[in-house]
Amino acid sequence: MIQTVRGTRDILPEDMPLWRRVEDVAREAFRRYGFSEIRTPIFEKTELFARGVGEATDIVHKEMYTFIDRARADSEGESLTLRPENTASVVRAYIQHKIFADKSPGELTRLYYIGPMFRRERPQAGRYRQFYQIGAEVMGSSDDPAIEAEVIEMLEWFLKELKITGTTLLINSVGEPASRAAYLEKLREAIKPNLDRLCADCHHRYETNALRVFDCKIESCQAVIASLPVITDSLDEASREHFGKFKAHLDARGIAYKVNPRMVRGLDYYTRTAFEIVGNDKLGAQNTLVGGGRYDGLSETIGGPPTKGFGFAFGLDRMVMSLPEDEAGRLRAADAPDVFIVFLGEAARDHAFNVARDLRAAGIAVAMEFEDRKMKKAMTAAAKSRARYALIIGDDEVASGKYGLKNLTAGEQESLTLDEVIAKLS
Ligand code: AMP
Repeated sequence: MIQTVRGTRDILPEDMPLWRRVEDVAREAFRRYGFSEIRTPIFEKTELFARGVGEATDIVHKEMYTFIDRARADSEGESLTLRPENTASVVRAYIQHKIFADKSPGELTRLYYIGPMFRRERPQAGRYRQFYQIGAEVMGSSDDPAIEAEVIEMLEWFLKELKITGTTLLINSVGEPASRAAYLEKLREAIKPNLDRLCADCHHRYETNALRVFDCKIESCQAVIASLPVITDSLDEASREHFGKFKAHLDARGIAYKVNPRMVRGLDYYTRTAFEIVGNDKLGAQNTLVGGGRYDGLSETIGGPPTKGFGFAFGLDRMVMSLPEDEAGRLRAADAPDVFIVFLGEAARDHAFNVARDLRAAGIAVAMEFEDRKMKKAMTAAAKSRARYALIIGDDEVASGKYGLKNLTAGEQESLTLDEVIAKLS
């Protein structure tokens, strides 16, 4: 039997109400905060991620699904990659379509996306090779830290609406790339005598971009990592001031946070503010729910005009796992038809098709089986469908134009015309 590829999975119908709920609440948050949706392709030129996300990151170095598109007779074939994240693509679209062009000075562009991402990671609970992200980007000429606080406020509303509790907001500043050189020098000096205690990937990070050592999750590297100087102590003046204002904006909104000076996020494009929201204990080892930060300069890196940017992405998979049990149960139960039609006999069956069509045209969710069954069996099927009501149609009902509407939870039954049924169920 052919099964799903390792690290990918089917999201089955019983879980879809939970996924839809997370998506619906996200769309509502984005509507309230002025974000518009954008969809970008699932695959892009490899160069976009290599330059945007950074060659030294785990994502680009180890995890991308890259392939050479079949060469035409006159070309070599192009290197393409299934997107491992979507910020680089959204910034590319922002540049390619000159979305900034019709904006007044200082006006921001707020975009959001929902879709699958692909990374060749070691699969485990909460970590997949095809996973889904919902993310948002704020781009423009302003780098006001109030933007950052407002986006985090939106996320807080979103989590509250989903009844997800016990999360922690972690923040840090990774400073300006231009003034990072002195710190990186200091960091490399501190790593060098400890290289023999670090993994092969950390050796590579040390050679290519020492900051990425902080992304290492390997247990035996943690003691060395804990002893390294942190970037937060070496911030340039402007970044320090920005970080101070960002924290003040969070305080003013009553948003609780913890500063984690070792959180540098696994992508090279971050400047200044970086943040994560760590989930509650339903998540286990893979407990980062949301990740984001500022990426001023990403546009320039991929050939666009100077642009400031701030954004985040969260894993839909992990957000669904974080929903409380009772909320998940309520969402599954609500995903049922309004009415199940029970018919008795051939003539009633033909009549029932018309009734079903009229109810559906009136916006009512109707379930009906086509097989003629005895009353008891048909009522069992109605209960199994979890419909709120059963509508009973036999020869008498066809003749009188009044149907039996049975409330399947309370048990009581009324005799109603089609219009009355529609009025009751709408
Ligand atoms: P990142 O793009 O690495 O900053 O990740 C942002 C968020 O996407 C994480 O906090 C997770 O919720 C989610 N995520 C990242 N990688 C995976 C994965 N392999 N499987 C499931 N969710 C993921």
